[in-house]
Amino acid sequence: MRGSQTWPRHAARPPKPPSRMADPGVQASIHKNAKTTLPRIYNYIASSRFQDVNLVKRLYPDSRPVTLSHWALPGGEGAWQQWSFDQIVAQDFSPAGIGDSFGPTWTTHWFKLEFSIPDEWAGSEVRLRWGSNSEATVWSADGRVLQGLSTGDAISRRTDYPLTRNHEAGAPPSLYYVEMAANKLFGAGPGDQIDPPDPNMYFTLSRAEIAQLDSTVYKLTRDLEVLHQLAQELIPDQRGYQALYTANQMVNSIIAGNESGASDLADEYFRKGNGQRAHTLAVIGNCHIDSAWLWPYSETKRKVARSFSSQLKLMEDYPEHLFVASQAQQWAWCKQYYPELFERVKAQVTAGKFLPVGGTWVEMDGNIPSGESFVRQFLHGQTFYQKEFGVTCKEFWLPDTFGYSAQIPAMMQHMGLTRFLTQKMSWSLVNKFPHHNFIWEGIDGSTVLAHFPPGDSYSMFVTVEEALRTVNNLQDKGRAGISAFLFGYGDGGGGPTQEMLERRHRLQDTDGCPKMQMSTPDDLFGQLEAEQHNFCRWVGELYLELHNGTYTTQAAMKRLCREAEFRLRDAEFLLSVGVGQLGSAADQLLSESLAELDTAWKKVLLNQFHDVLPGSGIGIIYPQAEQYYQEAIDTALSVWTKAGDAIFGTSSSTEQVVMNSLQWPRKEVVKISGEYSGKDLLGVVQRTEAGEQYALVDAPPMGSSPVLASTPSRDVTITEADGFFTLENEMLKATVNPWGQVVSLLVAGDDRDVFLKADGTQLLGNQLVLYDDEPLYWDAWDVMDYHLETPKVLNAEGSGFAVTPVAVVESGSLVARLRWSVEISPASTLSQEIELSSESPFLVFSTYVSWHENRKIMKALFDTNIHTNKASFDIQFGHLERPTHMNTSWDSARYEVCGHKWADLSEPDWGMAVLNDSKYGWMARAHSLALSLLRSPKAPDDLADMKDHFFKYALMPHTGTLQEAQVVRRAYEFNNPLRLRHAPTSSGSWSALEVEGAGAVVHTVKATEDGSGDVLLRLFESHGAKTKVTLRIKLPVLAVKESDGMEGIGPELSITQEDEATSVPLSLTPFQILALRLSFSESKKEN
Ligand SMILES: [Zn+2]
Repeated sequence: MRGSQTWPRHAARPPKPPSRMADPGVQASIHKNAKTTLPRIYNYIASSRFQDVNLVKRLYPDSRPVTLSHWALPGGEGAWQQWSFDQIVAQDFSPAGIGDSFGPTWTTHWFKLEFSIPDEWAGSEVRLRWGSNSEATVWSADGRVLQGLSTGDAISRRTDYPLTRNHEAGAPPSLYYVEMAANKLFGAGPGDQIDPPDPNMYFTLSRAEIAQLDSTVYKLTRDLEVLHQLAQELIPDQRGYQALYTANQMVNSIIAGNESGASDLADEYFRKGNGQRAHTLAVIGNCHIDSAWLWPYSETKRKVARSFSSQLKLMEDYPEHLFVASQAQQWAWCKQYYPELFERVKAQVTAGKFLPVGGTWVEMDGNIPSGESFVRQFLHGQTFYQKEFGVTCKEFWLPDTFGYSAQIPAMMQHMGLTRFLTQKMSWSLVNKFPHHNFIWEGIDGSTVLAHFPPGDSYSMFVTVEEALRTVNNLQDKGRAGISAFLFGYGDGGGGPTQEMLERRHRLQDTDGCPKMQMSTPDDLFGQLEAEQHNFCRWVGELYLELHNGTYTTQAAMKRLCREAEFRLRDAEFLLSVGVGQLGSAADQLLSESLAELDTAWKKVLLNQFHDVLPGSGIGIIYPQAEQYYQEAIDTALSVWTKAGDAIFGTSSSTEQVVMNSLQWPRKEVVKISGEYSGKDLLGVVQRTEAGEQYALVDAPPMGSSPVLASTPSRDVTITEADGFFTLENEMLKATVNPWGQVVSLLVAGDDRDVFLKADGTQLLGNQLVLYDDEPLYWDAWDVMDYHLETPKVLNAEGSGFAVTPVAVVESGSLVARLRWSVEISPASTLSQEIELSSESPFLVFSTYVSWHENRKIMKALFDTNIHTNKASFDIQFGHLERPTHMNTSWDSARYEVCGHKWADLSEPDWGMAVLNDSKYGWMARAHSLALSLLRSPKAPDDLADMKDHFFKYALMPHTGTLQEAQVVRRAYEFNNPLRLRHAPTSSGSWSALEVEGAGAVVHTVKATEDGSGDVLLRLFESHGAKTKVTLRIKLPVLAVKESDGMEGIGPELSITQEDEATSVPLSLTPFQILALRLSFSESKKEN
């Protein structure tokens, strides 16, 4: 009975009429005045006035209240996860009514709805209509999730649940439930959307009724709506007037009582198709759901259920409807919390209507996760889709994140993907990105096909204005005949609505509007691939000229992410050694550890979501995210310990061994626990007043050895003159002034000073600088260019800040340490230890900050004597060069950039690197390099970073290039200190893997996910140069095969075996990522 059912929607189009008349039978308005005719039509379907005579009130000719009762689920945020539907409906529900309020924020309220549909509505469509100014879910009496509701004054997205399309008289009374969440679609901001949430928000019930829907009026409303849009957008074009006059005559017909005549006029209009050159919009239904943002993870789980169920409901009536959903985590939540709904979704996946996209676990941040994290995002995402649905996503779908690493093309290729989609680059403040279709080339030369939907949005409503804007905005006109058009409400609005589908249907091929064809991403990319010979090329990162404060905000997210990534790396390495050495004896260890590591990785991957790791979410998110990170770190430690026990044997020995998971032989100062008797500690041991012991120890590559103290080739020294302290070891010499600034830095044996020019000009390192940090709007997200105009150096002579000057706190042959501190404000303090250890090529700054500022950013600034116009930054599996000048608007806009473990300024044979353990925001300008340390935004978390912080960075002067100076190696070592564990020293010294030759870094050594006992190595070329290396693997290797990010089994490589080692010669291209799969004599049968 619905209007569209009377409209032959899928009938073949009749041949074009022979007449040259535009629209036979359509009469133009008698007044030649579009200025009155156009609003007349709008008023007839949408005005809040004249509702007694226009179509608005006729849509729902009759309604009845439902009988309501209520039960408040005990507890606040996330408490609903403890309750089953059966438990809930067994509770005592109390009477409730319109006007009652429910809250506070994040609580859950259940309503029982009882009603009988009147017999006089027989033959009509009947809807349940709800208004609670909140999000809600409709449940059936037998516990099925039926549909989401999202209602509210400004963001009313979905208010009706269709009960029946054709009511039959005599139907029994009905019982439904509504689960109301005490939050709005965008959380609980009291005023502006990104205001910190009001914890005490209440929601008033404004509607709970059943209503009769007039399906003829519904169809006429949609017809008039689209004709009005066409007229509005196309006039003064001839086709706009044709739409206008058709709509005008429809209104006249309806007033005359001829509704079917009006309907026929519209149908006739929409039958007129486009010419063959019209642009096609690949219309793709979606609902971008942020996995946490202005709401916590627990609410996202319900947003997923509401959205997925809403789309299933639409699919019942619109067989052409296709819907895509990304983020395997969200599908996994659906399976875990809503298994019945998941089965229904699964059936539509099988039918090809409900499509997983993107291939990743979540839509992660595009800058900060390590290369290995990127790989795992895909590995866990694709594995989930393969296991549940037999589907492998073909595209990387990341519409909404804050910039895109220059190594993404290579990482995609490593994972078997060649198609990339985003739209966020349209947010850049300064420069308009010049393409919507292009070949994206990464730092290693890998390319992928990139598409930006030219509507610059992923939540279109399907209007004529959007369709025309999309085509007009396309930067590649004439190069491609198709563009993506992503439609549907996101974030709990539930995706596409019936109204959007109705408009899409009318516009699928209507003259004057691009063709709007319901498509899959595969349809879209398939056609783009056929046209990609026309596309231009973009090389390097996709730098978003906005949201660059997210490299720094919520410092704990970054610190814990880095720590978890390295701890998991260590655990996987040691587990692999155990599996390789012990074979089937490690079966149980392997299967248990794989399961534990899977869980741990998924917590890390979830936290890399693009509002969690970047720090742009509300405060309630972060304690939980910190807990997830900590659990992952604890799991990694546990696996590391168990694997070590398997390798060394459990022992009550107080003897210790030193563990090195990196591929380089190392000689470093370590802290030895006090209980260790040290009877075997030969050589020098430095004991502090606090009872700590330090020793210089050697560790073989990717292996371990007994802790044996060796004697340094020279002692570390501190000398003082006029309050200036000079620290010196075998590698470097640094002088620090009384305020903690570095005034001189030299590589041992070299006379070029990083901070002192030959003409005597003094430059300064380790300047702690505070800047005003008030963005235009996006508080947690943005640090604007003008912040650079407001520097205040905290630790300069005469700065006005109270500095406790530098003093010696430790002086011995192995470790020398200075300390100074400064009062940043009455509320905030910083104290710093500056340390030099024996054999260390870098000076370490261990920094403690009690941080309670308001809209300030603090950086460590190094103004150097290095002449260069480019800086290098560590990124995923490689590094990226960026200019240090502001020649162009593109260079100028990159005043705050993302880098990982290090950044470097170098002349061809000399330079300086800054290393760090947990920071990602950098500035490189002229001869200066700055590392962003802390921010203090107040929205959406007014307490962001208001606590104590500890972090380290280090200054490494070097001769030669950054490659010759092994900056990459030193940054790995800085982030991954040698670790000690109890084990009998009789285990001797061993090394599982060595790399002969320079450039290749073995980042990952992990047991394969299939549990076969194989081990996967992931290497990358780190110098940006072609290189030949030989791996020497000292495990019982049977075969080495090529592999990839999905751990596939490729061709076997030729290897040689001698002296219990397997040698694998490899050639790598610049920044290449390479996976190898090792099988052992006791590996299980490969699957
Ligand atoms: Zn988002």
